[in-house]
Amino acid sequence: MKKECEFFRDKLLDYSMDELDADIVEKVKAHLEICPDCWKIVDDYKKINSITVNVLKVDFSDDIWEMERKEIIRRVTQKIDLKKEIIRILKILFTVKRVLTAAVVTILLVTCITFGGIQYKKNQELNKEKIIIENIGLLENLEILERLDFYKKLGEKRTNL
Ligand SMILES: [Zn+2]
Repeated sequence: MKKECEFFRDKLLDYSMDELDADIVEKVKAHLEICPDCWKIVDDYKKINSITVNVLKVDFSDDIWEMERKEIIRRVTQKIDLKKEIIRILKILFTVKRVLTAAVVTILLVTCITFGGIQYKKNQELNKEKIIIENIGLLENLEILERLDFYKKLGEKRTNL
């Protein structure tokens, strides 16, 4: 790694999610134009971000929904900055060993593809139900909170290894 890259590496994830302050963004942009290595990292982060968003959209099964229901209702009263939470989890994932990171990414990809297929079938067969679910934006947000917890636990496990 080039010496100047050290300054930028811990800022690239925030940059990929538009979470950096404007003055630093310009510095990062300038660096990315001359540094293919850092550019590649940002590109990877963006891919992972979009995968994570897709996974987060997957519906829970009804029994899990019932199980978590009370906890979910409790949590909705707590205002959680979802974007910051995702960034925090991604940071945990990306600070672990590369092999583990690759494993996590693979799991995310497989999960995404698997649930994407299921979701497609559901869309076909249960179109009415889907429309109802989509209309209840609040419930979707609650589900996202639950999934964030899953990734948080995942991240904590990795960190403890
Ligand atoms: Zn660099």
